[in-house]
Amino acid sequence: MLSWTSPALNPLPASDVPLRLYDTRTGRIAPIIPLTPGRARLYVCGITPYDSTHLGHAATYHAADLMRRALLDTGVEVEMAQNITDVDDPLLERADRDGVDWRELAASQVELFVSDMAALRILAPQTYRSVSEAMDGIIAVVRSLYQRGRAYPVEASDAEGPDWYLDLSLDGALGDVSGWTQEQMLEVFAERGGDPDREGKRGRFDPLLWSAERPGEPAWDAGELGRGRPGWHVECVCIAEEALGLPFDIQAGGSDLIFPHHDLSAAHAVALGRPFATSYAHSGMVAHEGEKMSKSLGNLVFVHRLVQDGVDPMAIRLVLMAHHYRSDWEWSAQELELALARLESYRLAARRGGHHPGTVHALRSALRDDLDTAAALEALDSWAAGADVEENPSEGPGDVAAAVDALFGIALD
Ligand code: ZN
Repeated sequence: MLSWTSPALNPLPASDVPLRLYDTRTGRIAPIIPLTPGRARLYVCGITPYDSTHLGHAATYHAADLMRRALLDTGVEVEMAQNITDVDDPLLERADRDGVDWRELAASQVELFVSDMAALRILAPQTYRSVSEAMDGIIAVVRSLYQRGRAYPVEASDAEGPDWYLDLSLDGALGDVSGWTQEQMLEVFAERGGDPDREGKRGRFDPLLWSAERPGEPAWDAGELGRGRPGWHVECVCIAEEALGLPFDIQAGGSDLIFPHHDLSAAHAVALGRPFATSYAHSGMVAHEGEKMSKSLGNLVFVHRLVQDGVDPMAIRLVLMAHHYRSDWEWSAQELELALARLESYRLAARRGGHHPGTVHALRSALRDDLDTAAALEALDSWAAGADVEENPSEGPGDVAAAVDALFGIALD
C-alpha cells in the first residue's frame, strides 16, 4: 500500500542506555532488549479505513513513533510494520450504505490517513500492508491452522458453507497478554467484534478464523475452508510474520486492543506453534465532551480538520506529549491553546541557538523512561524560559532544536 514519506531524521550520537517500556503482559516496566541484537522489530495495529484519523488514532501512532525514535536514539535499528484492516465489517457496511465500492472507500480513507501521518511527522513504517494485499499469505496461515486441527466449522444460515473458528481449548493461550478473568473478557468481547453466544461454538471466546462468503461481500478461495474472508486477528499475525518474523519485540496499539485483539493474535501464533511478541505496549484512550472518542457517539476530533483550520500539526504533537501515552485523557480547546503557546515559545528559544547539554540529556532520559513526555515538556519549558543558560553561544538552531526534532518529531524551524 502507498505509504507516506518519512520526515528527515538526523539521529543524535547514539548512547547505549536502553529504552524502558511498560509491558502490559507482565505489568512491569522493563528494558527493551531486541531479540536480534542491534535490530528491534515493532508492529503497530493499523486503522480500519472507513473514517478519518481522529485524535485517538493520532495518540496511538504518536506513541509508536516515540517508541521507534527512542529505540533509534539508543543506537538500535528499528524495523516497523503496520497493517490496514481494509476487509472488515464496518468498512463493508459503510461502503454498502453509501453505495461506493469498498476498495474505493478504503483507498480514499487511507489517503487521508497517510496525509495526516505525514503532517504529524510520524516516521513511515517500512512495511505498510493492507489485508487485501496480504490475502495469499493470510489464506496460507488459515489453511495451516486447519491442517494442524485447530479450526472447526460452525453452520451459517445465511451462507452456503460454514464459518470456521479457532479452537482455543487446544493450546490454552487465552488471556496470556491481558491476564483478564473470563468475566472481564465477556464484558467487552461482543462490543469489540466478538460473538460469545453464537450457537455451535466450542468456546465463547473462540475467534472467527474464516467467514464464509455472503451475498454482496468480497470473497477469496481458501481451499478446504471454502470461499470467504478472514477473521481480524489472523490478519495481523500473518502480516507481522511476513514483515518482521515471529517472535518480534514489541506489539503496539491502543488499550482497546489488549483484549480481544492482542490476546487472540498471540493465541493464533501459539496455535501455529510459534511465540508472538516479546512485549506489549498500549496507549490510552482519548475522550472528548466527557466520553471516549468514538464513531458511534459522534464526538470525534479529526486531525485533517484541525490542520485545515490552520492548526500547526506540531501543536497537535505537543498536546499529545502533554499526556503520558498510557493514560486516558480528554481533548479540549484549552489544551490546544496551551500547546500553541508552548510551540511559539520553543520556536523563539530555538532561534537563540546555542548549546544546552543539560536540557538535551533531560530530554533523552525522559523519553527512555517509559516515554515520559511530561518530564520532557518540563525540561523544554525551563529551556524556553532561559533557565538552562547556554555556555557557548553559536550560530544555527542549536542542540535542543535538533534533539526535539530527532526524539519527538517536532520541527522548531
Ligand atoms: Zn492488529
